[in-house]
Amino acid sequence: IFHGAKEAGFYTIGIAVGKKPKFYDAFPAACPDEFLIVDSYKDIVSDRVVNKLLEKNAIVVPHGSFVEYLGAENFLSFKVPSFGNKHSLTFESDRKKERKWLEAAKVPIPKIYNSPEEINGPVIVKFDGAKGGRGFFLAETPEEFYDQIGERENYTIQEFVLGARYYLHFFYSPVKDTGYKLKKGSLELLGMDRRIETNIDELFRMAVLRKGNLNQVGKSIKPSFVVTGNAPLVVRESLLSQVFELGEKVVEESIDIFGGLTGPFCLETICTDNLEFKVFEVSARIVAGTNLFPNGSPYSDFIEPGLSTGKRIAEEIKLAVKLNSLDEIIS
Ligand code: AMP
Repeated sequence: IFHGAKEAGFYTIGIAVGKKPKFYDAFPAACPDEFLIVDSYKDIVSDRVVNKLLEKNAIVVPHGSFVEYLGAENFLSFKVPSFGNKHSLTFESDRKKERKWLEAAKVPIPKIYNSPEEINGPVIVKFDGAKGGRGFFLAETPEEFYDQIGERENYTIQEFVLGARYYLHFFYSPVKDTGYKLKKGSLELLGMDRRIETNIDELFRMAVLRKGNLNQVGKSIKPSFVVTGNAPLVVRESLLSQVFELGEKVVEESIDIFGGLTGPFCLETICTDNLEFKVFEVSARIVAGTNLFPNGSPYSDFIEPGLSTGKRIAEEIKLAVKLNSLDEIIS
């Protein structure tokens, strides 16, 4: 975000909790011009911080942790102009709302089991508010579910989709009227990644110890889905039309239900062996996987050489100012 904003000529302010993070000094081209130190995430909505940001004429660019730790409710009442549509975040943070949105958009999604008794195949059990896949577990029968659930509540039982994962980085502009046009504005694909998750991504290695018997591995070691990093990838080109259709349907529906998924967003998908994508999650803002492409990606380079998601955000602000449409892209 900082690197792209600086490239586009903006003055940048980094908000940090507690103290200035030293590691930014190691990356001068991505270090904000100034740090604003707050006591806690909640302190960001205090009058002191809000007034300081307003004085500086700032636009806040929210990322995942910002929204998660501040809380969707606090963010909604945050008085500083923020990039994108705040209402999209209430849809991404509530699994039920998000599902209704995806259903209405008519994109393929994993089946949801309403009760553990119905489980009759591989499922992944997710908890509300779980960050980075922490605590999720897999089961194939009601018994396996009850063995692992313990006292925990507020879970979703989702079909475990087997296939290749693609985390698709899109950008929706309500003000740009060239490119891949939607009923309003246009849609761009800026990149894609796959997350590196431990221990699931490396679980097969234990098969060596268990003499190639993966069943034995499954019995003694619980798979986990904790995100630790990201890797770049491209999709088979013939699948690109499907990729764009997914983005298009999700955005067009969002325009109807909450005024549009403005700016960067990510569809988390799994492509099955019949070459169908299922969308299991939406991130309604910039995602960490975009860090892979500070100087462009195999997709964004065909929009503008060296275009990163951070730079695209900065350019959108400039375009909206020029068109006198800033209120369309900030909330
Ligand atoms: P999430 O917190 O929903 O992004 O999920 C964390 C990780 O769990 C994902 O990155 C996937 O590796 C895995 N996962 C989530 N949902 C599914 C699903 N329905 N089928 C297979 N794997 C999934």
